[in-house]
Amino acid sequence: MRILLVEDNVMLANSLAEALTQAGFAVDCMHDGSSADTLLSTQDYALLILDLGLPRLDGLEVLRRLRQRRNPLPVLILTAHGSVEDRVRGLDLGADDYLSKPFDLSELEARARALIRRSHGYDNTQISCGPLHYDSVSRAFTLGGELLPLTGRERAVLEVLLLRDGRAVNKAALSEKIFGIDESVNSDAIEIYVHRLRKKLDGSGVAIVTLRGLGYLLESRPAAAS
Ligand code: CA
Repeated sequence: MRILLVEDNVMLANSLAEALTQAGFAVDCMHDGSSADTLLSTQDYALLILDLGLPRLDGLEVLRRLRQRRNPLPVLILTAHGSVEDRVRGLDLGADDYLSKPFDLSELEARARALIRRSHGYDNTQISCGPLHYDSVSRAFTLGGELLPLTGRERAVLEVLLLRDGRAVNKAALSEKIFGIDESVNSDAIEIYVHRLRKKLDGSGVAIVTLRGLGYLLESRPAAAS
């Protein structure tokens, strides 16, 4: 899941980006509103974390432009402590949630997960596809009741496929959701992760199928007759 973090306090931005990366997100970081506005016009994100007091373009203006483009991206705004007016204006302009500084990293991560989950239409933290179950709080996958061991990238790919809920996702879009823009990505990387996931899911009743011209799809299918 790829997040755009916009925060002009570079030290704070770096520590937030590090925490979110450790929590399994791909994070792009911008330090001014204008650069963020440009990126948001061209890139696809799962979540925007937006500080409001920003140089070059105010955070509220970044938000206003985003919604003017009818972009439904979930937005979490970061506001100065006690600034009720900013929170109200942000929510009125289409922010989905806010956090007042200073905040706890665990709360930021929990709100990020909740916003992404809801934007995919899930109110529940438990999501299933056949025998594959996913807990979006712990980010653990179980297969037939057993914990499914996954690397960070494999987990990220499987999360995207599961949250697509029966719609195919192509390799480019999958790659965009999983890697930050600064990461150099081998074009075969997604294929390698999908290959490994297929091995781990083999024979389980859930499979990653390839739809020619459309991409990958996570599908629950009856177990093969023995
Ligand atoms: Ca600021």
